[in-house]
Amino acid sequence: MKKCLYCKIEVGGDLEKCPLCQSKLVGEPEEPYFPKQANLQRRSLYYKIQLFVVWVLAIAGLSAEFLFNFKIPGFPKVHWSLILFLWLFAFEFGIMRQFKPGTGSARKVTSMAFIILVLLVITSYFFNFWRFTLGWVVPITIIGDIIANFVFAMIDKQGNTMSYLLTNLLVGIVPYIILYFLGKETPIPWIACLILSVILFIGAVIFKGRMVLNEIQRRFNI
Ligand SMILES: [Zn+2]
Repeated sequence: MKKCLYCKIEVGGDLEKCPLCQSKLVGEPEEPYFPKQANLQRRSLYYKIQLFVVWVLAIAGLSAEFLFNFKIPGFPKVHWSLILFLWLFAFEFGIMRQFKPGTGSARKVTSMAFIILVLLVITSYFFNFWRFTLGWVVPITIIGDIIANFVFAMIDKQGNTMSYLLTNLLVGIVPYIILYFLGKETPIPWIACLILSVILFIGAVIFKGRMVLNEIQRRFNI
């Protein structure tokens, strides 16, 4: 049994410190009361390491630009360290949060893709490659997301097929409608995006028809 010399109490188990005054306990440890959470500890260590790296990068970037006046060659007016800070901030509070248990896989993938795409559009606007981003990178990423959502819809056992599929239709069709009303010619990847979302929607209705119907009834009480 371990003892606290200050509180004059005996403490069972293998605690290192007194639960009352936090002083070091003396005496022989007993069998531990609680199981060791090695896995959790390691995860928390990784989390702290990445958090530290994020802060180091943010501060290094800001000081390089604003104290040492370091600019990206060819873009003397762009505050690159602020853009870097934005990425790090989104990584920390957007993407790392997605790894917490509780949210569905489809939502994780979609919100991660959404965060990254928004940042990419902002970055490409300042560095002048937004045409490429909007014309190719965004639609191709969305195609990947649509396919991932379809797979999730197929393997989902809780009958949440429809929410995946509606997300798919939305991201497939909305950009097309926007481009249509802007009177712009739709780039091929966006058309591919639209076609894919419709095809996968039909596929899901065929393969999971009964479940989709049940879900509509459940959600809209009909
Ligand atoms: Zn004590």
